[in-house]
Formats: sequence, structure tokens, C-alpha cells
Amino acid sequence: MAVIPIVCHPHPVLGQKAKRVGNINGSVQRLIDDMVETMHEIGGVGLAAPQVGVSLRVIVIELPGEETLALVNPQIVRRSGERQVVEGCLSVPGYRGEIKRAVKVVAKGLDRHGGEVRIKGEELMAQALEHEIDHLNGVLYINHLESPDKLSKLEPGAEVTEI
Ligand SMILES: [Zn+2]
Repeated sequence: MAVIPIVCHPHPVLGQKAKRVGNINGSVQRLIDDMVETMHEIGGVGLAAPQVGVSLRVIVIELPGEETLALVNPQIVRRSGERQVVEGCLSVPGYRGEIKRAVKVVAKGLDRHGGEVRIKGEELMAQALEHEIDHLNGVLYINHLESPDKLSKLEPGAEVTEI
């Protein structure tokens, strides 16, 4: 496994629609392993493949104290509710933004062995699923800001959940 450098805005790969994975082979599984190691190293709660420069539909999420989730070709099948969140992104370092996210999300996709999985997420899990699947569609949280004043620089020492 290896830690891969994070690609930051405005790198073009972050604005592209990532390709569907046709066949979950060893190189896709290695990518998942490397993404998990990278996420652990930098301390985010999730990572999408475009953030490590790979334009494929692969995401990993690990909420504090919970199991690692890896999803290939994920898609949101249902969202409900709305809440205001303060969000950060590993690919937009030093900033945080106030945006709206769903309260509950249902997503489906494939696990690392190609098995179909369906995930129900609430709150931070729902936020992470929306954030990472947005990455696969070339969308960053800064694209959801209702106005520029909803984006602010992180004060030194301040922390925000980075996804
Ligand atoms: Zn992000």
C-alpha cells in the first residue's frame, strides 16, 4: 500500500466526470487500499479517486470509530431532509464553507469484490456520501455555496471535518 499525494483545486481532474469501473480487478483493489491508507495518513473521513488524481468512480469513507466503507460506481438513490453544514475538503485546504446537505441518503454501489451494497446514511455519513459522489461528478462543495461569503478561511488552529 502507498500514500498518494492529494490533488488540490483547481486541478482539472477534480472538475471531470470520473469513469465507471468496468471490472474490479487487482489494480482497482490496490487503488482502494492506497486510498484508505492515504485517508488514514491525512486524517480525512473520506476520499474519492479523483482526489488522488485517478478519474475512476471509486470512493472510501471512514467515520470516526466505524468500519471503512469502499464503494465502486456508487450512486445516490434517495435523499431526504435538508440541513446546514460546515464542510471542508482535503482538495480545498485551508477553507471551510457553509452549505446545505441532505439529512438522510441511500446510496448503492459495489464493494471491493463486486458485490452489490446498499448504504443508508444519516448526518455525517449522508454528508460524506454526497460529498464523495459529488467528486465523481466533478463537483466540489464550493460549487454548492449560495454566496461567496459562505466560504471562509480557516483560522490558524481551527479544524473542520475534511471529506
Ligand atoms: Zn472533498
